[in-house]
Amino acid sequence: MTVDLHDYVATVENFPEQGVNFRDISPLMGDGVAYKQAVDAIADFAKQLDVALIAGPESRGFIVGSPLAYTLGIGFVPARKGGKLPRKAVSASYTLEYGGVNELEIHEDAIKPGQRVLIVDDLLATGGTINATREIIEKLGGIVAGVAFIIELEDLHGREKIMEAGEVPFLALMEY
Ligand code: AMP
Repeated sequence: MTVDLHDYVATVENFPEQGVNFRDISPLMGDGVAYKQAVDAIADFAKQLDVALIAGPESRGFIVGSPLAYTLGIGFVPARKGGKLPRKAVSASYTLEYGGVNELEIHEDAIKPGQRVLIVDDLLATGGTINATREIIEKLGGIVAGVAFIIELEDLHGREKIMEAGEVPFLALMEY
């Protein structure tokens, strides 16, 4: 059985602030069929890229990335918000779609030089989160083998911003 994943995205107008259409994937995660379909579709993409690791930014990147890594039988690397990791970490900062600056960090021993890493998140907006995650992976000597999302917000041109940092294979299961 295949479902239309669009039916599992709840759009919330003016959240978390005026003018933002929040695309909530909670219904997708809350449905076993839709969740598995989304993760399996990204796994098919990952299988073509010969990846050694999945990386995902806090926090919804964990919800996409962990079952994906488990399905593929490879490791998962969390890119955590600044100050949360207990050991030596490498960081990068970025500006948020709805204002403010964030910092992401990855433990410095989480990725070995030359390892191929697929970055995943629930949603691509401006691309700041993904480019910061990518910057850290590359600082550690990893190779970004591709990027994958459940949703891409086309008007925010995040895909172009990612490609400006270097062309990589790209997958978005839905576009809004
Ligand atoms: P960005 O760095 O601008 O690409 O923002 C991506 C991150 O912010 C993702 O981790 C999303 O979970 C979250 N996000 C940004 N905009 C939205 C939106 N309109 N709806 C849902 N999540 C969003």
